[in-house]
Amino acid sequence: MIEVINTSKEMSRVSDNIKKSGKNISFVPTMGALHRGHLSLISKAKKSGDAVIVSIFVNPTQFGPKEDFAKYPRNLKKDLALLKPFAPLIVFAPSAKNIYPNDFGTFVDVEDLSCKLCGEFRPGHFKGVATVVLKLFNIVKPDFAFFGKKDYQQQLLIKKMAKDLNLNIKIVTCPTIREKDGLALSSRNAYLSPVERKSASLIYKALKTAKKMAKSKNAEKIISFIKRFLAASPLIKVEYASIVKKANGAAQILIAVKIGSTRLIDNILI
Ligand code: AMP
Repeated sequence: MIEVINTSKEMSRVSDNIKKSGKNISFVPTMGALHRGHLSLISKAKKSGDAVIVSIFVNPTQFGPKEDFAKYPRNLKKDLALLKPFAPLIVFAPSAKNIYPNDFGTFVDVEDLSCKLCGEFRPGHFKGVATVVLKLFNIVKPDFAFFGKKDYQQQLLIKKMAKDLNLNIKIVTCPTIREKDGLALSSRNAYLSPVERKSASLIYKALKTAKKMAKSKNAEKIISFIKRFLAASPLIKVEYASIVKKANGAAQILIAVKIGSTRLIDNILI
């Protein structure tokens, strides 16, 4: 059975009962318009044998005033049909008013990380993300929460928030699921016209070639290659291409582009 819960109060009550029964809770937050990327996280969560809760909430506070909040795809009926094979499952689908009542006024800011990369181009975005995720964590009370590597900076930010604020939740990051031509699945891919969709496949091609180059070339050469490669399509405008060093000595290339009005991001380990 798929149980759909619409209010925070009822969700918390159900979560408390799951905990009392001695079960762990695995949580997958989403904005709906579900695709195989989301389903891969749910599938991983299900493997734990815990009670699995999926939230579907298009979070208004993470969209800028000129962004696509109003047109973001919403289709709960279709989402529930896609979730059917994962039953038993709990879906938390609250209204914006339920999450942000009129007198709401507290926000979470993961300083530094929230201003870089995507944060530079989407001011306030990560403040909205951190706030809603902390609220959802407090309502759902998960032991494990699953995020996709596609949104690389987002999962870093959630891990930092969990550490900084002593959340007792294990954050699990799952691999990026792609189309046959390499394009990372995203609810926003639906905005692309056929020609835009074709040029979008260049993003992963650029990343894969850059990964090969990383064996012999320095960061500057790799970044300038990516920018030149993507400039081959007049439809693509690069917002940023950046290499981020990791603590373990490895590095991640992160890209954000605009194709028409559609903003797409991707990344690869090098
Ligand atoms: P969204 O609905 O776009 O907010 O995404 C909800 C969760 O699904 C986030 O943790 C995303 O990183 C993850 N996700 C989105 N697309 C993919 C993908 N192609 N592969 C793996 N995870 C994804």
